[in-house]
Amino acid sequence: MRVASFDIVFQEIPGEVTLALNLSGCPCHCHGCHSPHLWEDTGEVLDESLLAELTGQYKGLITCVAFMGGDQAPEEVAHWAAYVKNPQSSILNLQSPLKTAWYSGRMKMPGTDSPFDYVKIGPYVEALGGLKSEKTNQRLYKRVEDKWEDITSSFWKKSL
Ligand code: SF4
Repeated sequence: MRVASFDIVFQEIPGEVTLALNLSGCPCHCHGCHSPHLWEDTGEVLDESLLAELTGQYKGLITCVAFMGGDQAPEEVAHWAAYVKNPQSSILNLQSPLKTAWYSGRMKMPGTDSPFDYVKIGPYVEALGGLKSEKTNQRLYKRVEDKWEDITSSFWKKSL
């Protein structure tokens, strides 16, 4: 699995300052995709040292690490999310634990035993729009104790 690029983002996960890792090799091929360059398998290999470098660079600023894509290997995304959350991880010499998010282009929800605090599901459908559109087919869930809470509407309130 490779990281094509990364960004620090403020809106993708409400209430979090997020290091978003844009994973390449996307198998979803949504019509009207905003990032078709992510269909190719390009970029740096996602490994412990890359996570250490990026989380270290933004230590004290970020509160969340989001894996954007990775539908070709969901179990690998879960592996790295668990690694980020594991207090024993050598990378994570951080002041406070980081949350984790997964932006999937599929409709399949991971279980509540997965290592994610947030999960977005759903392909991009041009006619329905992304999360900021009230017509969207996509959903963003937040883990609240042992349940997933649909917080998609928080995007719509912000746009008023
Ligand atoms: S899941 Fe995202 S990156 Fe992949 S094809 Fe769909 S819109 Fe593009």
